Parts: sequence; structure tokens; C-alpha cells
Amino acid sequence: MKYISTRGQAPALNFEQVLLTGLASDGGLYVPETLPKFSVEQIEAMRGMAYPELALEIIRPFVADCIPEDDLAQILQDTYAEFRHGAVAPLIQLAPNQWVMELFHGPTLAFKDFALQLLGRLLDYVLEREQRKVVIMGATSGDTGSAAIEGCRRCKNIDIFILHPHERVSEVQRRQMTTVVGDNIHNLAVEGNFDDCQAMVKASFNAQQFLPDGRSLVAVNSINWARIMAQIVYYFHAGLSLGAPSRKLAFSVPTGNFGDIFAGYLAREMGLPIEQLVIATNRNDVLHRIMTTATYGRQQLEQSLSPSMDITVSSNFERLLFDLYNRDGAAIADLMKRFDVGAVDIDDAAMATARTLFSSARVSDEETCARILETWRSSEYLLDPHTAIGVEAALSAQPEGDVAMVTLATAHPAKFPAAVKQAGVDVEPPLPQHLADLFQREERFTVLPNELDTVQRFIAENSNA
Ligand SMILES: *Cc1c(COP(=O)(O)O)cnc(C)c1O
Repeated sequence: MKYISTRGQAPALNFEQVLLTGLASDGGLYVPETLPKFSVEQIEAMRGMAYPELALEIIRPFVADCIPEDDLAQILQDTYAEFRHGAVAPLIQLAPNQWVMELFHGPTLAFKDFALQLLGRLLDYVLEREQRKVVIMGATSGDTGSAAIEGCRRCKNIDIFILHPHERVSEVQRRQMTTVVGDNIHNLAVEGNFDDCQAMVKASFNAQQFLPDGRSLVAVNSINWARIMAQIVYYFHAGLSLGAPSRKLAFSVPTGNFGDIFAGYLAREMGLPIEQLVIATNRNDVLHRIMTTATYGRQQLEQSLSPSMDITVSSNFERLLFDLYNRDGAAIADLMKRFDVGAVDIDDAAMATARTLFSSARVSDEETCARILETWRSSEYLLDPHTAIGVEAALSAQPEGDVAMVTLATAHPAKFPAAVKQAGVDVEPPLPQHLADLFQREERFTVLPNELDTVQRFIAENSNA
């Protein structure tokens, strides 16, 4: 399988190259040149498979020329053995035709484990084969950092440096990063805000000479194709459990960077009968504004009760735009160049196609709290604030007829106890057993000034894998 850039100018890459890259050299994002398609019979044959077996069916075509099937099967077995639920991604019914799919049974209690547990293992596999070492550098305001650290903690060929804004991430989220023990794990608390951290990561990717021994940087945010690929699997898993391909499906996805929901779009393109994908945003509603006004523009970032969706630019939306513009890389390059300096209008034809597949909703903090409380009262089921946004959007968008609507439960409520409390639920969600002593564990992190040189020197001196 070949991968091509959304901006049409960068060289095509194979899976291994794409895995080890960040952005394409033309500033675009990599997507598969063609998608595998599954027939109704092929999808039916997947019913009843355990999660790692299903993952093998879905992922195999994307990596076939780089990883032998037996090795891939083993990697997938190891990856999903880390999850603490027999179904890996269990479905819970909340109401007639309403389900949530719990994607929070991995090590860090958020859906990002599905992709980052796999990414760490895939990276180590190809690096071991090539006798190569790389450096992971990422910025986090929350869930990505801990999931990336957990995903790479046993990797022999990777040093991982995660920058977080000093004293500006929640205690649970900080501790999930800083209590992981490993010589290759480096938590950097930068005396700045999240944007400062992200700017340093971006500058470092653009000029990598500071790294020792010819090492290079690998991206762990959702511009990395392998993350999206891993997320396609659970859409099939839910669909098969609920009776697809003979049953129609819809998914509501709490969205920030458009990575998770883009994986749902790909599942549909690959043959899963998805009627509708609901883009569920908080008040940082860049995607909802695109859907309602056809204009893609930035607004001021606002803090919400669902911090993992607090973004102003939705990077992966470019991957959808590429398809909406009939894969015209030059058109996307032009559009994104104009977007760098202001708002852009999306073509009528592109918007018409987008609206046949996607609907959207913006959910306020008040509505989020109300949904958490109502669901607790009616079902004694506790939603985290991100999932609550998804459920609220799902209820507002339920299609006509017999369509199974599945909301992706992207985080465990124990990660966001303050929001649960603010909603008026009078129980505190307990951390699962494996994290029960999180607040007693020893933390390890290095506070650094908000200076690119200092951060880069630290990375150069500590890349020892
Ligand atoms: C990262 C995250 C999201 C947003 O996912 P995207 O792929 O960026 O859309 C939603 N909920 C939680 C809990 C997250 O950690």
C-alpha cells in the first residue's frame, strides 16, 4: 500500500516510512492511495471474532508489504492484551437504539490507548529490524502524553520526551505521565502554556539537527497515520456486535482534532453501513461552524469541562477535505495556504457531500453537566464530560427508523472527577484497580524554562535508548 500527501507534492511512502514520519514534506498529511473495501460477505465473516483477530482483518491490507501477517497478529495480540476488559471495547445500552462503546479500558483510561499501544509496538518492531533509534517528541495538555508514554515504555529503540505546561495540567493527567518508570521516559514541565510547548515541538520537527547520532523525530499526535488506522477497527467491532452489515449504524464522536471521527469515515468507505457520523463539539466549535456556515476559521481558545477537545484548529479535517475536493492536492494546498492567514470558504459541492455523511452539534458546559446528571439518574451510568457531549449530540441527531446509534465513550469518568461533581452527581467515580494508588506513586519530571535551546539540549543529552 502506498500513502500520498493531501497536498500532492510530497513523495509517496510505504507504511513503514509513513509510520516514522510526521507531516509530509509539503505540509500535508498522509492518506492511503486507495482504501481496502470489504464486501457484505467479508464483513459477515468477521462476526464473532475476538478484538485482536478483527484488528488483524482490518489492519492487514494497510501494512501488508511491510509486516508479515504472523508478526502483525502477534503485535495485535500483545497490544489488546493490555486492555482490562474481555470485550476490549464493550457496548453498553442506554436507551432503545442508543449505545455507548467504552473505549477507556486501556492503561490510561482514554481511547488514545487503542492507537498508541499499537503505535509503540509497531515502531519498536520496525526499528529493531532496521537497527535504528528514534526520538519521540510531543506536547500534551492531557490525554495524549500519558497514552504515548504508556505505549512506548517498553520500547528499546525509542526515547520519549513529552512536554507539558508546568502546573497547568490536571493532577490525574500529570500523575499518569510522571509516575511511569523507565529510563527512556522523560517528562518535561515547561514554564509556559500549551501553545508554547506545541511551538517548540513544531520548531524541532522542522530542524532536527540538534538530535544526536543521526536520530530523527517521530510524531505521536493524530497526524501519524498509524493512529487513525488503529481506530478504524472499533467501528467495525461495534457494527458487527449490533448486527451490521444487515443493521444500519450511526456514530456520535466527541471530536477535537477530527482524528477519531475520520477513522469512522474510513470504516464507512471500507464497507461498513454507517448512515450518519455526528460531529460532537464543545464550545470550541470550529467543526460545527464549518458544517453550519461552510467557513473554516479560527476562534479564540476557551477552556471547557472537556479539555481534550479544547482546540482551535482541527488538523485531520484536511484529510477529509482532500476527499471532498476529489483528491485534488493542489486545491488543498491552496486552501490551506489561505487558511494560514485567515478564514476560508469551503466549496458548495464539497459541503453538499460532507452534509450527506456528517451532522454536527455544539454542546455547552451546562448541557454537558445536565446530560451527566440525567444519565446517572435514569441509568446509574456515569459519563465523563467528553462522552456526555457525544451522547447529547447523539440524542439531538438520532436518524429516522431502525438505526443503532453508538456514542464513543472516549474517557473514563474517574479521569474527570471535577466535572462529575459539578454535574451534581454525589458519588466520586473510583479509579480502576490498576491505578488505585496513583496518588501515592512517586513522580518524575524535569522543570525547564520556556526556551527552545534549553529543551533541545536536554533532549540531545538524554537520548540514550
Ligand atoms: C483526544 C480526545 C478526544 C478528541 O479526539 P480527536 O481524535 O482529536 O477528535 C476526545 N475525547 C477524549 C477523552 C480525548 O482524549
